[in-house]
Amino acid sequence: MRLQHCAVYFHSLAGSRLLSLLMTSRHKAADSVSTSVAPAKRKKIQRNHVHINYEKPANVQEAEHCCNDASESERWRPANWEKIIDNIREMRKNKDAPVDNMGCDECPDKGVEPEVYRYHVLISLMLSSQTKDAVTYSTMQKLKEHGLTVDSILQTDDGTLGELIREVGFWKTKVKYIKMTTQILKDKYCSDVPKSVEELCSLPGVGPKMAHLCMRSAWGVITGIGVDTHVHRISNRLQWVGKAGAPTKTPEKTRVALEDWLPRPLWDEVNHLLVGFGQTICRPVNPLCGTCLNNELCPEGKKVLSRDKKTEKKGKGKK
Ligand code: SF4
Repeated sequence: MRLQHCAVYFHSLAGSRLLSLLMTSRHKAADSVSTSVAPAKRKKIQRNHVHINYEKPANVQEAEHCCNDASESERWRPANWEKIIDNIREMRKNKDAPVDNMGCDECPDKGVEPEVYRYHVLISLMLSSQTKDAVTYSTMQKLKEHGLTVDSILQTDDGTLGELIREVGFWKTKVKYIKMTTQILKDKYCSDVPKSVEELCSLPGVGPKMAHLCMRSAWGVITGIGVDTHVHRISNRLQWVGKAGAPTKTPEKTRVALEDWLPRPLWDEVNHLLVGFGQTICRPVNPLCGTCLNNELCPEGKKVLSRDKKTEKKGKGKK
């Protein structure tokens, strides 16, 4: 795959403001996690072997055309999107969501061989589907204590592996997928994690969301936006999924819609930003629209607020 470091490329694409955002974007994979202490007490150590690069789009002609000002000015983008993102950054500035302390970036052991680190990334992503971050995190601690390498997992029988991961969602299926995937890594990739979305998606139990997140966290390459249930829900509430305003039915369709307009320098940041926002404020049920800084800009928030006002008026009328 052809890769291009993003600095010069994105300067022309989105202007110096976005470049500066990219340069200051978090490098969560560089943080350190000790396996034996509670998340709040973890000591942070700079890890420097994962640098974030952006994969050049397959259609280079088209990508270069995207940098053209005229083409950019014609591109559909949702109203107030920059302000909304700034507001979310403000609401997320305390970094107090589960994903900030127990997300998949926090699960791998730092200081291990790069290929082992990448294996930890992949396994934490496989465990995380349909599972809360805290449960994924604690399961990863157990696995690391047991020994989390390609060889050690292949030597572990299914019953023992099941005992180790039984708190995560769909653990029986995950035992099967982890074993099959690990055997493929051993046989086909010299016990390492493959370095392309296509190859990652060919592994049992790995889909596009996981593949893009794995490329970022394991290899430091941004290939696409990782769209999970939070990113999917919030993008639809904000009507960020297309000019027509029709909701997208699947996270994969949301990913395609977002990638159509969101400047590439923000692809790295947006997953983590929205996941934490979805865990704390824009929750699946009972989102905190009343206190959300975007409630005047968000179509869903406006609806919720006007409904609340009507209910309040009715309540007063009855008194
Ligand atoms: S106003 Fe409500 S629905 Fe809209 S982004 Fe904020 S919390 Fe989510």
